[in-house]
Amino acid sequence: MEKEVSVIFLVFTIGSCLSSFFMVFVYRLPRHESLGGRSHCENCGQTLSPYQLIPIWSFFLLKGQCSHCAIPINPLYPVSELIGGILLVILYVF
Ligand SMILES: [Zn+2]
Repeated sequence: MEKEVSVIFLVFTIGSCLSSFFMVFVYRLPRHESLGGRSHCENCGQTLSPYQLIPIWSFFLLKGQCSHCAIPINPLYPVSELIGGILLVILYVF
């Protein structure tokens, strides 16, 4: 059965969001940081605004750097979000 492109896009978005949340655990747990609260810049501590939390797109909107201190954002974040989205699409399609 043919899967609709819009549904696949939705599944991809859900997958990238799940991956984004997973990265919060991976980053914060070893540092004994709280899992609550909004994400912030690792360098200057600037809290990220809602549009800066959109998986993958925010990395490109910010041109790969913090909007406050301009330190480069680890490309591991958009890459893991991309992989998370692709994995969920694969699980959905097959
Ligand atoms: Zn910063």
